[in-house]
Amino acid sequence: MIREDFPVLKQLVYGKPLVYFDNGATTQKPMQVIDTINRMLLQMNSNIHRGVHFLSEQSSELYENARRTIQDFIHADLSQEVIFTSGATGSINAIAFSFGERYVQEGDEVIVSEMEHHANIVPWQVMCGRKRAKLKVIPFNETGELDMDAYRNLFSQKTKIVAIAHISNTLGTINPVKEIIQIAHAHGVPVLVDGAQAIQHVDVDVQDLDCDFYVFSGHKIYGPTGIGVLYGKSKWLYEIPPYQGGGDMVDCVKFEKTTYNDLPFKFEAGTTNYIGAIGLASAVDYIRTTGFDGIQAYEENLKEYALQRLQSIPGLTIYGTSRHRIGIFSFLLNGIHPYDAGMLLDKMGIAVRTGTHCTQPVMDHFDVDGTVRASLAMYNTKEEVDIFCAGLERVKKMFS
Ligand code: PLP
Repeated sequence: MIREDFPVLKQLVYGKPLVYFDNGATTQKPMQVIDTINRMLLQMNSNIHRGVHFLSEQSSELYENARRTIQDFIHADLSQEVIFTSGATGSINAIAFSFGERYVQEGDEVIVSEMEHHANIVPWQVMCGRKRAKLKVIPFNETGELDMDAYRNLFSQKTKIVAIAHISNTLGTINPVKEIIQIAHAHGVPVLVDGAQAIQHVDVDVQDLDCDFYVFSGHKIYGPTGIGVLYGKSKWLYEIPPYQGGGDMVDCVKFEKTTYNDLPFKFEAGTTNYIGAIGLASAVDYIRTTGFDGIQAYEENLKEYALQRLQSIPGLTIYGTSRHRIGIFSFLLNGIHPYDAGMLLDKMGIAVRTGTHCTQPVMDHFDVDGTVRASLAMYNTKEEVDIFCAGLERVKKMFS
């Protein structure tokens, strides 16, 4: 059973078996990933790309192999289109800066949606502020689905880029990203897809989607923290300037003029988190050897079970009821403050998230201060869903 591979899940919290339902925030790591990172630190650590010695060559090779593993996993055309960053946030900031620098002028427009994580709002706002450009927002409806007619009407001659979540981290909605991209491309506008909540749950084929940029974080796909991916079509990556300057990203440095290195190094200034990248590749290998199809089928079944159990709890309101969804459930219970509910669940050994989930516009939409969020992963079980629902009933009783 997959669960056995995750040592963190075996512990007791306040004397109760841990029920970890905070996977949208970060996922736990399988032993295989922990072993890979340990091995790197114990036997192989050496800075990449800079040494002629054995250890450096070995870690450089593992790092470039990691890039190819990610290329294969997301079906990118070229390995140079895979850039290692610090995470989804780092990737979006890089594109907001570099793309904005090259293509956005005063009066231009950027489209995002009302359900974006702050990481896919604020970097665009910063860039728009710098360039005196304007942010336009696709609204979502009461079920938590994007209003596609409104989206179509947002385009103008001034639209420069669309940035959209593949899956909402609060509503759980799977957005129709392929259609969103087709519509944008019909206007000649590129699209960045924020895959932070998708990469670990659904097949991502960047060529089939035809997205221009795709970003995600390693720690949400059972890999280490501090590592993430920025996929970009090479035609864009050649055109846009680097986000950061430093070692490794240069070809020739002169005080008069500096030239940049080839892709992907142009976007990997300084010492990258190479151990993180190798750990991330190990997580992807783990998923693949476990069988991603089987994982997805299991998660689908678990999500349906959890949804049906949650819907049968009187007084529980779920925010985000799209049929196209994953096992992320944001809800409120009978007017009980989400923080109180979260604290009481914690004492039962149940880990959930409470608050705005870095999506304040979603909270504003529903006119709530925050919600409780339970987010499931491949190692969760129906028994845990039952413990969770019993816990919610207890919370209700305590407040009645
Ligand atoms: N985008 C979405 C949809 C997310 O859920 C998150 C994190 O929760 C992020 C972006 C930011 O990810 P990170 O903090 O790993 O950079």
